[in-house]
Amino acid sequence: ERVRTEQIRKDFVGNVSHELRTPLTVISGFVENMQADNDSLPVQWRKPLDLISEQAGRMRHIVEDLLLLARLESASVEAPRDPVDPVDMLESIARDGRSLATEQQQIEVSIETDAWLLGDGGLLRSAVTNLMVNAIHHTPDGGRILLALQETPEGPRIRVQDTGEGIAAEHIPRLTERFYRVDAGRSRERGGTGLGLAIVKHALQKHGAKLEIESRIGEGSSFSCVFPRERRIPGPQ
Ligand code: ADP
Repeated sequence: ERVRTEQIRKDFVGNVSHELRTPLTVISGFVENMQADNDSLPVQWRKPLDLISEQAGRMRHIVEDLLLLARLESASVEAPRDPVDPVDMLESIARDGRSLATEQQQIEVSIETDAWLLGDGGLLRSAVTNLMVNAIHHTPDGGRILLALQETPEGPRIRVQDTGEGIAAEHIPRLTERFYRVDAGRSRERGGTGLGLAIVKHALQKHGAKLEIESRIGEGSSFSCVFPRERRIPGPQ
């Protein structure tokens, strides 16, 4: 009964998200057309149209994230085992990060093993990118973000570490719940959906990997993706 109810919940969320897609696309499309002709718009409509466009964009983002989450949950199949070069992946994620970060935020990569991973390259990339974008958002200027590839007794891990604001202990176990945010107002303001870490967790689960979070208020946070050894291969020499 519990499994059945859970399935109904998942289907419902998936269907609602899917159904919302078309109306949102129509709303955004028309607003965009109206904005394109800005000069002929009555002045008092400009601000409301900007807001409609911004909020419709946020809704689209939430719907896209919910659909991705529904897809990750429904396919119980494991992630494929394509060879993924983590050095390539981390370097390119760091490059994207630098274009998003301010000049006073340092983003570095540290490669401490020659291991490659077996997995879904696109999914892994989007998980680590999510962690890095969060780190950028929660690290003030003068801070440092480190993307590291390391070896642990359990298997290889990708660690995203920041010297930012940190998270109080009581929030840590709940961070991967959908829509859970420490500061919902701030998250919304910068376009966060509160679904990022839920997506990361599911993307990792499909690889048999887990997300480990360590953080201290004022000292920074560390989000580690720990892969099972069977997802590790030695990199080409
Ligand atoms: P959001 O869209 O709000 O970023 P996430 O699921 O990605 O949603 O993250 C959930 C919450 O976890 C965030 O709202 C934030 O409070 C907290 N968080 C995530 N990453 C960090 C980090 N590196 N430093 C501090 N807090 C973080």
